[in-house]
Amino acid sequence: MLKVLKFGGTSVGTIDSLRNVKAIVEGLDAPAIVVVSALGGLTDKLIATANSSAEGSEHYREEMVNIRKRHHDIINELVPDDKKGSVTEKVDSLLNLLEERYQGLSLIKTLPVKTLDEIVSFGERMSSVIVAAIIAGAEHRNSLDFVKTEKWFNRNIADRPLTERLIKETFRLPLTNHIVTGGFISTDRDTGEITNLGRGGSDYTAALIAAALDADLLEIWTDVDGFLTADPRIIKDARIIPEMSFVESMELCSFGAKVIYPPTIYPVFHKNIPIKILNTFNPTAPGTHISDNVVGKGRVRGVSSLNNTAMVTMSGPLTANVAEINSRAYNAMARNGISVFMVAQPSEESSFSIAMPSGDSEKALEQLVLEFSPELQTGELRSIDKTDNLSVVALVGEGIKNVRNLGNEIVAALKSAGIDVKAISAGASETTVAAVVPSDSVKDALRVSHSVCFK
Ligand code: ADP
Ligand code: ASP
Ligand code: MG
Repeated sequence: MLKVLKFGGTSVGTIDSLRNVKAIVEGLDAPAIVVVSALGGLTDKLIATANSSAEGSEHYREEMVNIRKRHHDIINELVPDDKKGSVTEKVDSLLNLLEERYQGLSLIKTLPVKTLDEIVSFGERMSSVIVAAIIAGAEHRNSLDFVKTEKWFNRNIADRPLTERLIKETFRLPLTNHIVTGGFISTDRDTGEITNLGRGGSDYTAALIAAALDADLLEIWTDVDGFLTADPRIIKDARIIPEMSFVESMELCSFGAKVIYPPTIYPVFHKNIPIKILNTFNPTAPGTHISDNVVGKGRVRGVSSLNNTAMVTMSGPLTANVAEINSRAYNAMARNGISVFMVAQPSEESSFSIAMPSGDSEKALEQLVLEFSPELQTGELRSIDKTDNLSVVALVGEGIKNVRNLGNEIVAALKSAGIDVKAISAGASETTVAAVVPSDSVKDALRVSHSVCFK
């Protein structure tokens, strides 16, 4: 049985949590692959310090003292004596490079994207070397060597075929020892420059490895007892979901459930490799099992919310021609690398809306005006406008397709709680009902939705 285990930032954040990681991995009955994040909170700190250095501040000197101490304390406490010297040397050389980068930024007073990408990579480069030394008999592999990205508009996305080939070469099966590697970080396939898979991307690294090696199971070890019916930071009585389908987890995560980074699910889903969500701080809890084979499809499996959303709305007679407007709008967005995450039916008649991340709304508006300029001239379209400061609340469950009028039920509940529902998803997905609401009422909207679904 081949398992890939991913431990997030809080799981590798302290001496105590690392003791749990060590016990979990050393307790396995077969060699496994372990993917780790940077020490909890470090990525945020690395970014904040890069920003302040680029403003000319020398605050990085103080931060470097803390960052060094945090890593050294862990090495001193947990790395066996015979490896302490070599691990300290590796980590120190990374720390020195990091400090040089900050010093450079404080002199040039700008923050080039590639310098920021290099800076954030130090987190996983250091944590993976340390964790490999903590786990008895484990080997280390450098993920910069085998996770490759390509440019896609202004993003870096994984080059899946190349990465798959390199993973197969790097992790020869059957494994003879545990192998530890860093999540999140990668290199550009053309330039060799350091890149990453996006915030929260360690989950995705683990999924790419699991899929390339046809692993039997992907375990995501985090700091909660499983996938919950809603974000526990907002909904205090959220419950553990014992089982869910790939599609349900994919929908919940793309609508904001932070427990798994959204691109993670697709590669393992495609290979039918189940995912387990488990708690490093409570390792015997059963967690959540995500697979293709789910019993008891309830009505709604979970609810989630996504902030920083914008909506572009087109009005006029052309919107009655749903097929045409849909495909032209989608194509215009796809050509510009804008991911539309829902098609919405606004409360107003004869209009058509699409929702996208706020950062893309300006460009989306511009492109739609361009695409539909003939119709704007003839009057077939009256207007194309954008609305910012929105959020989406999503209700997800494979059982939803058998429930009639859930959309109406939820809109009624939100409205009676005084929430201004801007739009509701137009049934693009059979598993999700999504409502667009003003950002300042998203928490209330989530509470109302959760209580309607989980009475
Ligand atoms: P890690 O560092 O292990 O990757 P994350 O912080 O990325 O952990 O994800 C785990 C966190 O996700 C939890 O601590 C929890 O606060 C948050 N979360 C949001 N929505 C959910 C949900 N539906 N179920 C479980 N956790 C959730
Ligand atoms: N360390 C990275 C982040 O904080 C990646 C991860 O934790 O998954 O975003
Ligand atoms: Mg995470």
